[in-house]
Amino acid sequence: MLTLALQRADWINLAYLTAAVCFIVGLKMLGKVKTAARGNAVSALGMLIAAVTTFFFMTGGTTVSLIWIAIALLIGTAVGLWFALKVPMTNMPQMVGLLNGFGGIASMLVGIGDYANKDGLEWATLVGEVPGLPYQANYFLATALTVLVGGVTFTGSLVAFGKLEGLKITPSRPVQFSWSKPAIAGLLVLCLVLGGLLIAKPAWGWTLAPLAVFALALGILLVIGIGGADMPVVISLLNSYSGIAASMAGFVLRNELLIITGALVGASGIILTKIMCKAMNRSLMNVLFGGVGGVVAQAAGGPKGTHRTVTPEDVAIQLEAAGLVIVVPGYGMAVAQAQHAVAELARLLEARGITMKYAIHPVAGRMPGHMNVLLAEANVPYESMLDLEQANAEFEQAGVALVIGANDVTNPAARHDKASPIYGMPILDVDKARSVVVIKRSMNTGFAGVENELYYLPNCAMLFGDAKAMAQALVTELKSE
Ligand code: NAP
Repeated sequence: MLTLALQRADWINLAYLTAAVCFIVGLKMLGKVKTAARGNAVSALGMLIAAVTTFFFMTGGTTVSLIWIAIALLIGTAVGLWFALKVPMTNMPQMVGLLNGFGGIASMLVGIGDYANKDGLEWATLVGEVPGLPYQANYFLATALTVLVGGVTFTGSLVAFGKLEGLKITPSRPVQFSWSKPAIAGLLVLCLVLGGLLIAKPAWGWTLAPLAVFALALGILLVIGIGGADMPVVISLLNSYSGIAASMAGFVLRNELLIITGALVGASGIILTKIMCKAMNRSLMNVLFGGVGGVVAQAAGGPKGTHRTVTPEDVAIQLEAAGLVIVVPGYGMAVAQAQHAVAELARLLEARGITMKYAIHPVAGRMPGHMNVLLAEANVPYESMLDLEQANAEFEQAGVALVIGANDVTNPAARHDKASPIYGMPILDVDKARSVVVIKRSMNTGFAGVENELYYLPNCAMLFGDAKAMAQALVTELKSE
């Protein structure tokens, strides 16, 4: 019997180890555009191994728990499929936000449920009533942290989702009151005290209820005070929190794979948050407590002057004489789904001997890597995609910088206007190209709500219209010649 039990445990550990390796290798592969799709598949395989192993070996063998898990799996798969098919790419940040929230509440419920379900022997083992076994403070610490971090993640993510969806109940502007910061500090202290009480007096299960309520309130207060424009960063941070909560739930359940997976999510979320903050030249503290990023009033003395408009015909002629064209994609290209038309335009120009490159700002669009994914989907070669530094070294040689639905990431005000909310954000120096053509529908502002100085420069011209329609119009012009 003992041999059988050991063999069973060995198989489980082997399967979990394989799944963990798949996650780590998959994550590494996701770091490069070329290997990203395969990396996703490797990670998904790891998750399949993990789920199947847990399902068959770890359920305790009772039919009831298997049925519950099967029902949960079916519902989860159906909702996941619905999300995958219905949610457009541009709404991905909201969707990730919501999924983080689900992760948070799941961990919180695991923490509470596991504590409540301990039988006599398990309890005696934990609290040191079994001779020779010490009191397991780490279990109660992990339970308290699971409830705290899971609760904050849940409500914080719901608020972030609401802000990005434009729900009335969660206004996009930073909602801050004079009492917000003291209340946040007070709630945090209360949560720590309640967690400390649970560790000191493990039998005081009542502490979990107020801890959960205060954690949920803390999540709301923390995120409601942040402006909508900063939500993608907040979502990345909450993604990290959801990983930490899952990792803590792994300690509660003594499930090594959950500990590893949660730690991977926690660490990668923090790294991504740091990258996004750096790309916007903001500190994390400024994002969390700066109250920036709502509907921004244009500073007095903003860009003045007139802008010049051009037609597709004018632009086609300009492009053919450019030598080097650098395409600068942004959120508008994603909304219009213009990537295929842009790729076709590039192929026509390349056939005429023009060199085509793509300048990708780290926060162009609404999520990191947004532009890379779209361009890759349209089979744009990876080698022609330049990052911020590479692109800025090349703009001076470009005959045309063709800005397609990008706005904030090209605004020269970020370099010199200290009053601008985007001051200090590294930008793509498109204004250094010989000429700039901007495709967008109007003179409306971008995500940060500030006017773009670029549009009033003498070397800049506006081609007004939907990004896809205009790219197709340029294709038609080139084909008709
Ligand atoms: P943006 O500044 O939001 O500007 C997008 C522009 O696209 C708009 O000005 C809009 O102008 C135009 N547009 C919208 N629909 C269009 C369509 N169908 N056809 C043509 N144009 C269209 O975009 P961005 O330059 O990509 O900058 C991203 C912004 O998001 C930055 O402020 C960044 O800080 C923020 N952000 C991004 C991330 C991230 O991870 N990527 C994270 C946090 C924050 P019209 O309405 O006139 O067409």
